[in-house]
Amino acid sequence: IVRYKDVHKSFGEVEVLKGIDLDIAPAEKIALIGPSGSGKTTIIRMLMTLEEPTSGVIEVDGRPLWHMEKEGELVPANEKHLREVRGDIGMVFQHFNLFPHMSILDNCMVAPVHVKGEPKDEARQRSIEMLEKVGLGDKLDNYPSQLSGGQKQRVAMARALVMRPKVMLFDEVTSALDPELVGEVLEVIRDIAKEGEMAMILVTHEMEFARDIADRVLFLDEGTIAEEGSPEEVLENSKSERLQSFLSRFR
Ligand code: ATP
Repeated sequence: IVRYKDVHKSFGEVEVLKGIDLDIAPAEKIALIGPSGSGKTTIIRMLMTLEEPTSGVIEVDGRPLWHMEKEGELVPANEKHLREVRGDIGMVFQHFNLFPHMSILDNCMVAPVHVKGEPKDEARQRSIEMLEKVGLGDKLDNYPSQLSGGQKQRVAMARALVMRPKVMLFDEVTSALDPELVGEVLEVIRDIAKEGEMAMILVTHEMEFARDIADRVLFLDEGTIAEEGSPEEVLENSKSERLQSFLSRFR
């Protein structure tokens, strides 16, 4: 469903990603781990079209992100093409990025109504369903400021789910939360993962959690995928000293 082919990304003189090759199957759950600054966020921001690779190709469901085919040739993608591809991707950020002046129901309805042009009733129905799924069915009319961090993060998830993405991206979604709120957010992600049909990429420092839900763990180090494999292979039988030393910080 997602393919990176020899993707490089530089910011100015600094090459942050040095050739990423990655194939993600539909419904596959990927945990992305690695030291601060290794480029984890950049990898998923590119999928959300928030950053453009310096070179290489990223495809979603067979469609390249930054280019489209026109009369047999590849030309730079227009806004419509980008919007279509982006429609398959949902993202939850570390800082919830909710609209503060809207109720949580409206937060969920905005994109389906204004980006996809769906009828309001349909969008409302599905938003309520998703808010119920994340355990906030009794808070529809509340504003973000009236919620705890964990609740806000669950709204952010419902809002992404309402768009029925094929791929969900989670960027350190628990790292801005008080420790006692982490569990409820991970629980919701676990539930979503169990339903199965979506692919997921999770940037996380929660190694236990990664072990639980990931089909595959990628260790990103100095701009390359330094190790990858099942959670057992990567987290318990890591080959490189750098990965062992990275993991020892979480024990
Ligand atoms: P962390 O775990 O700390 O979030 P990360 O692995 O997600 O780190 P990235 O956020 O992808 O790392 O950043 C990788 C590198 O790219 C960092 O050195 C960062 O300073 C740099 N970087 C990221 N975005 C930009 C930008 N817009 N302009 C310049 N440099 C950037």
